[in-house]
Amino acid sequence: MSDEGYVRVRGAREHNLRGADVDIPRDALVVFTGVSGSGKSSLAFGTLYAEAQRRYFESVAPYARRLIHQVGAPRVEEVTGLPPAVALEQRRSAPTGRSSVGTVTTLSNSLRMLFSRAGSYPEGAERLDSDAFSPNTAAGACRECHGLGTVHRVTEESLVPDPSLTIREGAIAAWPGAWLGKNLRDITATLGYDIDRPWRELPQDARDWLLFTDEQPVVTVHPVREAGRIQRPYQGTYQSAKRYVLHTFADTKSATMRQRVQRYLVSADCPVCGGRRLRPEALAVTFEGQDIAALAALPLERLAELLRPSAEAGDAADAADASAGSAGAAGERSVEENVAATLARDLVSRIEVLTELGLGYLSADRPTPTLSAGELQRLRLATQLRSGLFGVVYVLDEPSAGLHPADTEALLTVLDRLKAAGNSLFVVEHDMALVRRADWIVDVGPGAGEHGGEVLYSGPVPGLAGTEASATRRYLFDGAENDGAGDDEGGAGDGSATRAAARGVREPARWLSLSGVTRHNLRGLDVDVPLGVFTAVTGVSGSGKSTLVSKVLAEIVADRTGGAVEQPGGGAGDAVGSEDGTEEDDAQRTERTDPEAGVAVAKGLEAIDRLVRVDQKPIGRTPRSNLATYTGLFDAVRKVFAATDEARARGYNAGRFSFNVTSGRCPTCQGEGYIAVELLFLPGTYAPCTDCHGARYNPETLEITYRGATIADVLEMTVDGAAEFLADVPAAARGLGALRRVGLGYLRLGQPATELSGGEAQRIKLASELQRVRRGHTLYLLDEPTTGLHPADTDVLMRELHGLVDAGHSVVVVEHDMAVVAGADWVVDLGPGGGERGGRIVASGTPADVAYAATGATAPYLRAALE
Ligand code: ADP
Ligand code: ADP
Ligand code: ZN
Ligand code: ZN
Repeated sequence: MSDEGYVRVRGAREHNLRGADVDIPRDALVVFTGVSGSGKSSLAFGTLYAEAQRRYFESVAPYARRLIHQVGAPRVEEVTGLPPAVALEQRRSAPTGRSSVGTVTTLSNSLRMLFSRAGSYPEGAERLDSDAFSPNTAAGACRECHGLGTVHRVTEESLVPDPSLTIREGAIAAWPGAWLGKNLRDITATLGYDIDRPWRELPQDARDWLLFTDEQPVVTVHPVREAGRIQRPYQGTYQSAKRYVLHTFADTKSATMRQRVQRYLVSADCPVCGGRRLRPEALAVTFEGQDIAALAALPLERLAELLRPSAEAGDAADAADASAGSAGAAGERSVEENVAATLARDLVSRIEVLTELGLGYLSADRPTPTLSAGELQRLRLATQLRSGLFGVVYVLDEPSAGLHPADTEALLTVLDRLKAAGNSLFVVEHDMALVRRADWIVDVGPGAGEHGGEVLYSGPVPGLAGTEASATRRYLFDGAENDGAGDDEGGAGDGSATRAAARGVREPARWLSLSGVTRHNLRGLDVDVPLGVFTAVTGVSGSGKSTLVSKVLAEIVADRTGGAVEQPGGGAGDAVGSEDGTEEDDAQRTERTDPEAGVAVAKGLEAIDRLVRVDQKPIGRTPRSNLATYTGLFDAVRKVFAATDEARARGYNAGRFSFNVTSGRCPTCQGEGYIAVELLFLPGTYAPCTDCHGARYNPETLEITYRGATIADVLEMTVDGAAEFLADVPAAARGLGALRRVGLGYLRLGQPATELSGGEAQRIKLASELQRVRRGHTLYLLDEPTTGLHPADTDVLMRELHGLVDAGHSVVVVEHDMAVVAGADWVVDLGPGGGERGGRIVASGTPADVAYAATGATAPYLRAALE
């Protein structure tokens, strides 16, 4: 084989790769397959992409060399024929802050330009710079809400939830409790207010003053006797409930305090900009009769419709110019019309690509934190199509994530177009429909971690049929599934065990009935969710599946079971305190206030005792959180070390072995093992600590060994390895066993949370849940649990989920994998389309009912899976 047209990799040893040699064609759609942990990403991202990146930096930015040196070059002997690469990954966290669909795609820039240059201005108004149309700039942001669109307010209802109480009884619930609360009541009495009359009987002006005044009168208080104790007179300062709540909310450093007062706040659209986030001057400018905020709030496909007339007018005029053959004709159109036509055409053509990728239901103002990883990756993919790059390798991580099988075709079209433009596509993928359509397959395996790391096959797809060791082969070729079943410990045959056909469809024990569900694109939906069975919610992207399951169902059941939605894990000792708080804040900020959101009637909630959500959100955002800390395993490990003779002799307790505690950790990296490196073009990257080289501990701590291993050695062990090493430590063995059952035996205990994929994070959460003793009836909610999973991994996961149902619980999943849907007891199919064209139930019933229903995008695919 000649070098021509191939990327040649020799001796790749990154992570678990075992000196892999492989030749991969350029200008082709190449898929990388293999079970989770087999080494696909280590080859595609860790070797090929990393090497391309390293070369790029060396060529353009000599100053970056030092940084590259720190990050480390991939462990590979030689790579030849490698073009520059662009990675579209899901793994690293999404951009946060104020980024939106519009900013990621740069559609916002064009829209602002359109308004600045071609908008209709009020008579006599000055033309505005395009910055003035951005809520993220000082020039554009509404002065009242600083461009956020919402303001936090207090109302009488929010501050006094029960007006039948007296002030002494705590009518003003928002006031602090205990001593400070009593002070305020005493001051109130001294000021002459009746604190023993029900709140609702107090005159309105008194109520208003007590709740809302900005005055802070100082009075001499002779404390009212409470509980028989007498106090001395003192000078007390009055503070209204509003003042107390708003100040605490804005100034407190305590997350708990903030959360407490947040309950008394209502967020509402900013009264000045009406939630539109911009200054009045900018909002006065219109295009086709609407302001820029209104256009940014439209689903993209509607925005394209609105812009199309301007774009086409431009086309017509251009055609006229061309046939007139003179420069003069253009002069008859105004400058604005020309600009409008150019910008509108550009916007329309870019939106068309997004619509093709099934994203036309998104609006430009949609904050990126509310997007799924799959949606975000496809947004970036579409943006690349316009970049006009050629001769590059695009390295993608499961672009089919979040896509209904009906949308996969469009994805292939886009990939084909990138290829036709002269690019190579290296895609880590699990969706066999997509894998079948590739030009070339690189199958890595046979197992995970140290049991993987070999290239089993590299060549055109049909050739894989002859590779017996491949786990992929069994799912890719009809008939091969049975051949392979006998000769391996666990994979193939088990898939059918979770199939409803093999097991028999379970009968629902009871029903949870919701009616009048209104949220996002769900408008007055009625839905019955069976309990005691496995339910799959299906539908094209944007049809409302996540809204129904992860928002509505989660919240209403959480409400009823008291308090927050439980997230498994969150490991005791080493948890990093503030993270949960910030995540909630993000959710708060990104969820628009929708006054109509809600559920009119909910029946059957009493049957559920507990709610558990197992999502793909990262289990932590810094390398400080890891597998061991999250699952609580690390507590058991630290106790083992603290119990050794040497540790006892030196007086080291379990805390000493925490890298979050000063005494035991490496002072240079403060126990992180890594140091954050800011690279210009990369999201935050971490380089190993120069002192402890990633060990995280100081030398004294590392002098303590257990069975010859230091605590840092244990963190380096895989789950499989640790299960053997700690087999006789019950507190550790239980958790390790659960992790192995969900197929994560290949992960290292100290694997930083930042290196885990969403699918891995989700299975870690599930494992934490499996190791618990469960009480009562639990409802488990999962959003696309198969993302990132090879079909063989999916089988393992499904076995565990069906086990929960067999134990008497209920499982509801949002899912696109038809093998999983076919194995469910009940299916709710939403649609028919995305966004405002979805939000209805197209069909529901057993998988067979839905498959043979005449309607819905899911039916044909489900039929194929059932046959
Ligand atoms: P796949 O993409 O096939 O799921 P990966 O390439 O992500 O597999 O992982 C292959 C092996 O390398 C696994 O054992 C994994 O735990 C290990 N690994 C992954 N990332 C890292 C890392 N940053 N450092 C060390 N080991 C890693
Ligand atoms: P699916 O899960 O079926 O892909 P979603 O429930 O995510 O669909 O979305 C359904 C509709 O609700 C879409 O029109 C989407 O744009 C909208 N939507 C989802 N989340 C939000 C949000 N946080 N803010 C505004 N609109 C949202
Ligand atoms: Zn405002
Ligand atoms: Zn260090």
